[in-house]
Amino acid sequence: MSDSPRTRQIKDLLRSLNRAGVRDRDVLLAIATVPREYFVAPSLRPVAWTDHALPIGAGQTISQPLVVGLMTQALRLTGTERVLEIGTGSGYQTAILCELARWVLSIERHTSLAIQARRRLDALGYRNVAIIVADGSEGWPPAAPFDRILVTAAAREVPAALLEQLSPDDGARLVIPVGPPDEQELLVIERREGRFHRHSLGPVRFVPLVPGAPRPEEDEHNW
Ligand code: SAH
Repeated sequence: MSDSPRTRQIKDLLRSLNRAGVRDRDVLLAIATVPREYFVAPSLRPVAWTDHALPIGAGQTISQPLVVGLMTQALRLTGTERVLEIGTGSGYQTAILCELARWVLSIERHTSLAIQARRRLDALGYRNVAIIVADGSEGWPPAAPFDRILVTAAAREVPAALLEQLSPDDGARLVIPVGPPDEQELLVIERREGRFHRHSLGPVRFVPLVPGAPRPEEDEHNW
């Protein structure tokens, strides 16, 4: 039997991610498993399986699948980790983490986005996740340390609080876009023998990591 159009779109996307450097089979499988169309507005469903960032309301975007693939691969998850994610957004990257880690705590500053993300993750049956509305640049000390930390909004500098909340174990990792608003470097910071080693995965462009609670006019639900 020939593939449905949806299956064809998924296969095309996986091939293109693989060519662009997403080689980890578990990460590719997670991307194939999580229904991305579920995390965007109905009008955007036809393009949900293309390799583009898309608007999700409150002026935010769901990340491009390639960037989700590269960031997730860089975390080197094995299935046993407790992960902190900053910037829940649509919850799409959160679902990918739920597929590959033991437990995920995700922090979002926009209440409207956090509520929708929680609803979607619940409906898809993810039980190994908690979503909190707060300023994620402070991390979440009560649940620290974390084996992995993923930041999906651009920071000017690596927040000291996040480094402090990273597990002291070898292999603990923080993946974070760092730099000015127009372009950032995707940094991987790894703990080895008690020290932090960092390398860059190249240039990326994310919406900014904004401290504090959103102003009411910033938090509207616009789709
Ligand atoms: N990973 C998301 C996309 C994230 S866009 C997805 O897959 O859909 C970045 C998100 O970070 C936005 O939702 C934004 O509201 C949130 N954000 C920005 N600054 C934040 C902060 N200080 N604390 C928590 N979330 C923040």
